[in-house]
Amino acid sequence: MDDHQLLRYSRHILLPEIGIEGQQRLLDARALLIGAGGLGSPAALYLASAGIGTLTICDGDSVDLTNLQRQIVHREAAVGEKKVDSARTTLLGLNPGIRVNAVAERVSGERLQELVDATDVVLDGSDNFATRHAVNRACVKAQKPLVSGAGIRFDGQLAVFDLRRADSPCYACLFPEDGETEEMRCAVMGVFAPLVGIIGAMQAAEALKLLAGAGEPLTGRLLLLDSLTMDLRTVGLKRDAGCAVCAGR
Ligand SMILES: [Zn+2]
Repeated sequence: MDDHQLLRYSRHILLPEIGIEGQQRLLDARALLIGAGGLGSPAALYLASAGIGTLTICDGDSVDLTNLQRQIVHREAAVGEKKVDSARTTLLGLNPGIRVNAVAERVSGERLQELVDATDVVLDGSDNFATRHAVNRACVKAQKPLVSGAGIRFDGQLAVFDLRRADSPCYACLFPEDGETEEMRCAVMGVFAPLVGIIGAMQAAEALKLLAGAGEPLTGRLLLLDSLTMDLRTVGLKRDAGCAVCAGR
């Protein structure tokens, strides 16, 4: 780290749980973010401000006026631009010392697997189950930690699946691929603006902890937030021995 970086990241370096070594690990780290929307916005802003080395963001959508109420990485002038390009501009304005790769597509299949293989941590802020399951499968295959967030109306969820650990459940242990889970998309449902800010910032916190080696990640637990009452609770998760995705891994 040069003098500029030592100053820039001094409030992380002062934390014994992070320190110089932890901050250097962040500067050397690669994170993959799926979705540049309500969850991805605060997650990306904190990963960038914290000095993540390389941030790859995937999203095929363009910025719409209805996004701006909660997707805080985008500016009104960016309406009509690809979300990943808009996010890249904001993030490099915040911290020009990081690398931001903008992937303007809804990635799947081989391309998604390549991106997951090439990263240290994955943050899922996507808005549909097909993408969530594809990201989970790629993380199970590559044994990469997955920080999964969700938020709709006033309700938020957060979970960490550290697939490097043999005892960790995967996303499909919680929500089976053939499950009857109702798809609730914020494209048609309401969403409280700061709810996705809170959950997205928590996703960044978990990713930074995993990368820096600080504290205990939320592995094996599901955090549930009702932002109408600010009732926050965590429930334990178990690996499903019959999971179609991770059993026998
Ligand atoms: Zn599983």
